[in-house]
Amino acid sequence: MLKTRINLSKSLNRNTDKLKHQKYQSNGVYQLWCQDCPLVCTGQTDRQFQIRFKENALAYKNNYSNSAYAQHLINSGHSLYHMEDVMDIIFTIHLDAVEKYHIYRKTEKGMQVNDRNTFAKNKIIDMMVKHDPQ
Ligand SMILES: [Zn+2]
Repeated sequence: MLKTRINLSKSLNRNTDKLKHQKYQSNGVYQLWCQDCPLVCTGQTDRQFQIRFKENALAYKNNYSNSAYAQHLINSGHSLYHMEDVMDIIFTIHLDAVEKYHIYRKTEKGMQVNDRNTFAKNKIIDMMVKHDPQ
């Protein structure tokens, strides 16, 4: 009984964490705040916010120059904090399934102008495309 209760509580915590993280799985416009000074970096991403944040974190750790935010932290000796503490989501872009499907198809054919990394390879959509050639 005790074990069950512990498992239930664990599972509830996991669900709460899941919900907290759900907003970081969208894409759109975000702001990254520096916790050590008033500076803020605004950016836009076609990929998930959490992936964009990881790229910033990686840039910070490896001193890559592809992130203005990371460059600021490095140059001023300010610290990198957790995503939940520094990342504000300003605007979320919702794509519906049909829109995603069509963008995916064009991206596969190299005809998409958008960032080619917008959508990850998807076996289900690949199968749909195979059965619906245009
Ligand atoms: Zn700073």
